[in-house]
This record gives sequence, C-alpha cells and structure tokens, in this order.
Amino acid sequence: MTKNKLVFQFRGGPISVAEYMEEVLTNPKAGFYINRDVFGTEGDFITSPEVSQMFGEMIGVWVMCLWEQMGQPSKVNLVELGPGRGTLMADLLRGTSKFKNFIESLQIHMVECSPALQKLQHKNLKCVDEDSHNGNVDKRTISMLTGTPVSWHAALEQVPSGLPTIIIAHEFYDALPVHQFQRASRGWCEKMIDVAEDSPFRFVLSPQSTPAKLYLMERCKWAGAEEIAKLDQIEVCPKAIELTHTIAKRISSDGGGALVIDYGLDGIVSDSLQAIRKHKFVNILDNPGSADLSAYVDFASIRHSAEEASDDVIVHGPITQSQFLGSLGINFRVEALLKNCTDEQAESLRTGYWRLVGEGEAPFWEGPDDQVPIGMGTRYLVMAIVNKKQGIPISFQ
Ligand code: SAH
Repeated sequence: MTKNKLVFQFRGGPISVAEYMEEVLTNPKAGFYINRDVFGTEGDFITSPEVSQMFGEMIGVWVMCLWEQMGQPSKVNLVELGPGRGTLMADLLRGTSKFKNFIESLQIHMVECSPALQKLQHKNLKCVDEDSHNGNVDKRTISMLTGTPVSWHAALEQVPSGLPTIIIAHEFYDALPVHQFQRASRGWCEKMIDVAEDSPFRFVLSPQSTPAKLYLMERCKWAGAEEIAKLDQIEVCPKAIELTHTIAKRISSDGGGALVIDYGLDGIVSDSLQAIRKHKFVNILDNPGSADLSAYVDFASIRHSAEEASDDVIVHGPITQSQFLGSLGINFRVEALLKNCTDEQAESLRTGYWRLVGEGEAPFWEGPDDQVPIGMGTRYLVMAIVNKKQGIPISFQ
C-alpha cells in the first residue's frame, strides 16, 4: 500500500488546533480514519460496540422504545453518525429482528466520511447492491441481516428529510475539531500550531484575537462566572454546536429523537485533547495521521445548542452509561446469554459486561468496593434530544 503523508497548509502562519485536528482525522488522502480499520485489539483503540454485542442490542431496545413512543411510524430514518465498523448497527438489527413492524419501518442512513470504513460497514451489515431494474437509476443497497435498505452519506445534511428520524451518535462528537484557548496576561489567547526549527510542530499562542474567539465568548455566555474563573484553559467545538443545531432542527421538523453517547463532561471542558496510537497515549503533535485525536465532549454546550435551535425539542440527561445500560436491562441480557454459552464465551461476556458498566459506581457489582472493575460506566455519558411530542424517552424517566 502506498503511504500518503499529511501535508499541512500553513498559508504563512500558524494553524488552529481545530484545523490541525480536522486534517489529522479526516484529510481525504491521509486522514487517520480515511484509509483503514483503526478499531479493536489489533487497531489503535476499542469502542463499546467492539467490546460486546450487548451494547448494540441495548441501543436497539432504546431505539425501538422511542419508535413506539413516536406512534410506530411505518417509515423511519435511522441515522448513525460515524458508525466505525458498523458493529453497533449490525447488533441492533440482529437484536430487534423479531419485531417485524419495527424492522420493516427502517431506512438506515450511515453518515461516514471514510471510504475504507464505508466498505467495512457494507460488509459487516451483509449488504448487497441490488441491480437497477427497468432502467431504474435508484440502485438500492439492502442489509441481508434484516432486508433493510441502507445508504451512505458524507454529512447529516445529505440524509433526505421528511420522515420521522432517530439519530445515533456514538463516539462521534469526540472526533469533531476543538479550538483551545489559554488564559494569558492579555486575556484569552488561542493556542495555535506552528512549525518549529528543531522539531516538526510546536504550540504557540496567537498574538492577536482569532475568529474562533467568537465561539469562546458564545460558550462562556452559557457558563457561570465561577466556572470560568477556575479555568486556565478552555476548549470549544464549533462543529459540535453546528451539528447539534442540524440535529435539533431535523428532529423538530420530522419528529423523533437523537441519542448521543460519548466521554465528556456536563460543563466546560478545559484541556482534554489526546492522541492514542496502538492503545497508548502519545504526543498530539507526533507523526500526525498515525494516531487518533479526540477530545472530551461538552454536553452542556450540546444542551444549550439544541435548546437554542428549536423550541420543539427537549434535552434529557446526561446520565452515565452504566445508568443507561442498567435501565435498559443489560444485567438481564448478560444472564440470559450466560445460560447458553461455552466457558470461553462466558469469560468474554463477563469481561465485556464490566467494561461497559464498570468503574466508580458499577451499580450491579456485588463484590468489595475496592475491587470494582475498571470500565466505561461513568466516564461515558448519555444524552437524548427528542421532539417534545414524543414524551420522555426510556432511561431518562
Ligand atoms: N461509532 C463507532 C466509531 C467511532 S470513531 C464506534 O463506536 O465504534 C468515529 C467515526 O466517525 C469513524 O467512523 C470516523 O470515520 C467517523 N467520522 C469522524 N469524523 C467524521 C466526519 N467529520 N464526518 C463523517 N464521519 C466522521
């Protein structure tokens, strides 16, 4: 395979951390996500759908309950933002396949910028491309798991509107580019990336105000003076605000709801941008394009952006992933699966279960407190943005 290298356009001056992050992750030639499968033990990092089939199954329960609350529409757009390997969607479809009315209503839309991952999603959903009949140019792609039509798009705006819509964003927001600001004697300055003499890249503070300062001011309006006074650094993510506006407007016009799951905080995020290569933290500036970059998600800013975009939507949560999965019955699911499996499968089910709900307040842990398993249970938060018509979604009641 020929290796593409990232070439940054400095245009005569330093670039923002957000520009750097966007190039590193999604540059069409050499971005981290663009040419390969980065997930799982062999890859760079592991995500909940890859940890256990139960994750996608539980999301399936939530989606089906929302569909019930929406009045069981005969057609619904089920959109997933950044579906990775497509594992979550495959487990969701397998888990709900017995519920015929629900399955028959689905039109799946995968929002994915990476051609390599689109291909992998196509394979994992066992998709076949139907031949166009009678000169019909609308070729359909069908997932043979459930006979559901699937299509791919580069952005949410491209998903056709007009049908009730359910959107899933798992570990999508954390990949959106953030701007970083640092408090200096002359006020808040944007952190920029420049070419150094002795090493390829270095951080510098911008000498003048930058356009992203407007977003910083916007973000600070939503926070109390006390919250800001404690901080020396602030991250803001204009793309997250923009995406939330699009989601809220879509849900307001078409009905339905969105589920956002990610690691993050219910407030301003200070300095969280990190790089992970082969399951290890590495320097953000080292060998760009070869490591994943991600930042904590500012759930409070998602709430404010959704509320600002439309009066027809309401935001619930965030709650912790362990509360969310617990309320959907993951402990019953793991028990049912354990009844019918080999010793090896039982071990992997148990490990997977604790990775999903463990850490801190693992609610179903019956062992000693100091032995609570480490997992994604409390660092990962879950938020729902729903059309007010739908009432309160399950898990948030
Ligand atoms: N949800 C998956 C993958 C998370 S990684 C999981 O939990 O396993 C982030 C995903 O979002 C990848 O599929 C990546 O290619 C995609 N992605 C990142 N930035 C994107 C963008 N701006 N537009 C569309 N897809 C994007």
